[in-house]
Amino acid sequence: MEILNNIPHAFPRSFVPMDLDFAEWKYIEPLFLQLEHRVLDTKEELQQWLYDRSELMDVINEEGALRYIRMTCNTADKELEAAYFHFLEEISERVKEVDDRLKRKYLQALSRQLLPASTFAIMDRSFENDVALFREENLPLETEESKLSQNYQKLMGSLTVQFEQREQTLQQMGRYQEMPDRELREAAWKAVVERRGREREKLEGLFDQLLSVRQAIAHNAGFDCYRDYAFKRLERFDYSIEDCLRFHEGVEAAVVPLVRRMEERRREDLGLDRLRPWGLNVDPLNRPPLKPFSRVEELVEGCVEISGRVSPLFKDFLKSMRDLGLLNLDSRKDKAPGGYQSSLTEARLPFIFMNAVGIDSDVRTLLHELGHAFHVFATQNEVLGHYRHAPIEFCEVASMSMELLGGEFLNVFYPNAEEARRSRRKHLENVLDILPWIARVDAFQHWIYTHPNHNVDERRKFWLSLHDRFGGIEDWNGFELAQATSWHRQLHIFELPFYYIEYAIAQLGALQVWINSKKSFESAVTDYWAALQLGGSRTIPELFSRAKIRFDFGPSSLEPLMNAVEDELSHL
Ligand SMILES: [Zn+2]
Repeated sequence: MEILNNIPHAFPRSFVPMDLDFAEWKYIEPLFLQLEHRVLDTKEELQQWLYDRSELMDVINEEGALRYIRMTCNTADKELEAAYFHFLEEISERVKEVDDRLKRKYLQALSRQLLPASTFAIMDRSFENDVALFREENLPLETEESKLSQNYQKLMGSLTVQFEQREQTLQQMGRYQEMPDRELREAAWKAVVERRGREREKLEGLFDQLLSVRQAIAHNAGFDCYRDYAFKRLERFDYSIEDCLRFHEGVEAAVVPLVRRMEERRREDLGLDRLRPWGLNVDPLNRPPLKPFSRVEELVEGCVEISGRVSPLFKDFLKSMRDLGLLNLDSRKDKAPGGYQSSLTEARLPFIFMNAVGIDSDVRTLLHELGHAFHVFATQNEVLGHYRHAPIEFCEVASMSMELLGGEFLNVFYPNAEEARRSRRKHLENVLDILPWIARVDAFQHWIYTHPNHNVDERRKFWLSLHDRFGGIEDWNGFELAQATSWHRQLHIFELPFYYIEYAIAQLGALQVWINSKKSFESAVTDYWAALQLGGSRTIPELFSRAKIRFDFGPSSLEPLMNAVEDELSHL
C-alpha cells in the first residue's frame, strides 16, 4: 500500500491544474513561462503573481517531499528510489534555474513600490541575496561540489568492520559505546578508529578538492574569502562573523570548565585513573539502559499525554497526525536510518519519520520532531509559502524547546521518579556536551577558510590546538593521529560548510524558553506558540523577541544559562 495517498488538502489551488503531471519537465515548464511573461503593472497583479508562484512552489515541493518520504520508508523498492532521483534531475534542477528568472522579474517590477513596504520585506531581502550571489559559471562548480560531497557520504556509509563475528556498519558499532563491559567498548572503539584511519589520506585529499572548488565559487561571486560568501549564502543577515567568534570565547569561558567538571565526576564514578575516549558514553553507574516503552503505540500515547500537558492544542495536533497516518515511527527492515520531520507544503501538514526501538533517546527524538511539526500547524494559515518557513536558527528553537518543555513530564514514561531524573540528567548533559563540539567545529572552519593555502599538517595541528580550547579531559595517548583527524566524522565540514552553529544558537534560545517556563509555564508556552505562528515573516531577532527570549549567543548570555543548567543538574 502506498503511504500518504489520502492526505486532505484543505487549501484549494487557484493557479496550478489539479492533474499536473510530474513525469516530465515539459508539463511543468508552461506554468513557469506563464508567470515569467505575465504583466505586473498593478499592485493586484503583482500580489496575485506572488501567490501563484507560491502555490506552484508548494505543489512542486510537496511532490518532492512525498517521493523522498516514500523512498526512505521502503529502501528496498527500487522504483521509489528511481522516482525520487527522477524528480531531482528532471524537475528540481530546472526549477532552480527558472525560479532565478522569476525572482529577477519580481525585483525589477516597478509595481513593487505600490505594495506596503513591510509586508514582503523579509522575502525581498532573501530574493535580492539569491540574485546577487547567482553566477551562471558557478552552476557546474556547484554540481562538482555536491558530487564531491556525495563521495564523502558514500565512502563513510560504506565503512564496515568485522566485530563479534559479523560485519557491522560504523553506525551499528555506536551501540557498543553504551555497554557496561569496558573491554568490549575499548575493542569496539579501536576497531572503528582503525577502520576510519585507513581512509585518512583519502578524506584529506577529498577535503582539499572541496576547499579549492569553494574558493573558486566565492571568487566568481566577487568574494576574496569563502567565509564571507558562505555567510551571505546562509542568509546570515542578523548576525556576523564577530558574533560567532564571541560565541567561541563564551563557550571556552562558561561551558568548557563545566563539561570538564562533569567528566571528572564521570571518571570518579567509573573508578578510573584516566578517562579514555571509550568511557564517554556509558552510564557512569553501569546501570542497564532505560526502557521507556516497548511498542511504538505506547510511544505515541505517551507523547500525546505529554503534549497535552504542555498545551491542549498540541495534543490535538498530535492526535490528528496519528489519525491521518502522518507518523512513521517504528524501526523496520528496509527503512532508511535516522529521523526527520518533513512538511507537505501544499496540504500544510507535517510528517514525522523515525526509527524507534524503545530506548530513552527515542522519546526526546519524537518530542524534538513534534516541535517542528507544531511549527507547521502554527503557520497553516499563511498564504505565502516563503513565510511559512522560519530560518533554521529559530526552527530548532521550536524543536529543542519541546524537548525541554516535554521533558518536565517524563513521569509519563518513567513512573519510577529516579528513572525520570536519570533521563532528564542525560538530556541536559547532552545539551552541555554538544556546545564545545559545535564551537570547535565552527572555529576550525573559520581558520580553514581564512587560511586557504594551509597544508594537511598545519590543518591537523590547528584542529589539535582546538582540543586544548574546547576538548574534554579524556586521554588520547596512543591515538594521536586519530585525534588530529577526528573532524573527519563531522559531515557538516565536508558537506555543509559553516552550517552547524545554528544548532547552538537555537539551543541557547530553547534553554531560555525552558527557564521562562519555570517562572510561568503557561505564559512561556503562549509566547513560544505566538513566535511559532510568525513563521518566516520576521527577522531572527524579532522571532526570538516574540518568544520572549534574547537573540545573543556571546559570553554574557551563555554564563547565566549554563548556571541554570548546572543548578538543575545538581537537583537531579
Ligand atoms: Zn531539528
